[in-house]
Amino acid sequence: MGFLKDKKAVVIGLASNRSIAFGIAKAMRREGAELALTYQNERLEERVRKLGSELDCTLYYPCNLESDHEITAAMGYFGDRWGNLDILVHSAAFAPREELEGDYVEKSTREGFLQSHEISSYSFTALAKAARPLMKEAGGALVTLSYLGAERAIPNYNIMGPAKASLEANVRYMALSLGPENIRVNAISAGPIRTLAASGIANFRSFLEHTACASPLRRNVSIDDVGNTAAFLCSELAAGITGQTIYVDAGYNIVGLS
Ligand code: NAD
Repeated sequence: MGFLKDKKAVVIGLASNRSIAFGIAKAMRREGAELALTYQNERLEERVRKLGSELDCTLYYPCNLESDHEITAAMGYFGDRWGNLDILVHSAAFAPREELEGDYVEKSTREGFLQSHEISSYSFTALAKAARPLMKEAGGALVTLSYLGAERAIPNYNIMGPAKASLEANVRYMALSLGPENIRVNAISAGPIRTLAASGIANFRSFLEHTACASPLRRNVSIDDVGNTAAFLCSELAAGITGQTIYVDAGYNIVGLS
C-alpha cells in the first residue's frame, strides 16, 4: 500500500482539473490517503464535488479563507466526522487582477496589498489554528504553495511577491510554534503552471517560456510533479523536514545566467 495509507487529508484550493490542489489530491489519494475537500463558494461546489468523486472523496465543506467563521466551521465539520486530521494542504492565493500587471509601485493599493496578504498568507495561520486540536494526538503535516516571486522581483507578479514572501516567513514561524507538537509545516515553491489563478497574471506565457528555456531540466513542471512532492512532504518519509521551502521548478531557481 501507499506511504499515506489511512492518513486523513484536507485539501484546500481546488478550482479545476488544472489546479495544483488537484495534482496534490491525486498523489495523496494514490498513496492511500482519505480526502476531504473545501470549495471557496457555491459557484465552485459542483466542480469540486465532480473532481472529488474521481478520488473517492465523500467529505466536502465550503470555506472562504477570508472568514474565520468558515475556517472554524470547516475544521469542526471534518473533526466531527474523522476525529483527527493528519494533513492540511493550503493551495490558495488571491490578488486583484488589475494589480497583477504593469508598474508595481503605480498599481499597488492599500486594499489590494491587505487582501492579498490576508488570503494568500494569513489564512494559512488561521487554518493551522483551527486544525491544531485535531492534530494534537498524533501530530500532522501542513503544506502550502509559494513561488520564486517571493525572493526575486518578477515583472507583473507585483503584489503577490510580498504576499508569498510573507507566506514563506509564516511557514518558518508556524514550524517553530507547532514543532513541539510534532506538527510539521513546509512550503513548495512551484515553477509556473497554467492554471486559473495564473491566467490572472499579465503575460504569464513568458513565465512558462522562460522557465522551459532556462531551467536545468529544460521544461516546465506539472501539477503531478508538485503533487508527488507534497505527498512526500506530508508523509513519514519526510519526518525530519519542517520550516522549509522546497523548490519544484525544474531547477530554475539555481540558474544565474541563462
Ligand atoms: P487555481 O486557480 O487552480 O487555484 C487557486 C485556488 O485559490 C482556487 O481554488 C480558489 O478558489 C482559491 N481561493 C482564492 N481565494 C480564496 C478565498 N478567499 N477562499 C478560499 N479559496 C480561495 O490556481 P493554482 O495555480 O493551482 O494556485 C494554487 C496555489 O499555487 C496558489 O497559492 C498559487 O499562488 C500557487 N502557485 C501557483 C503557481 C502557478 O504557476 N500556477 C506557481 C507557484 C505557486
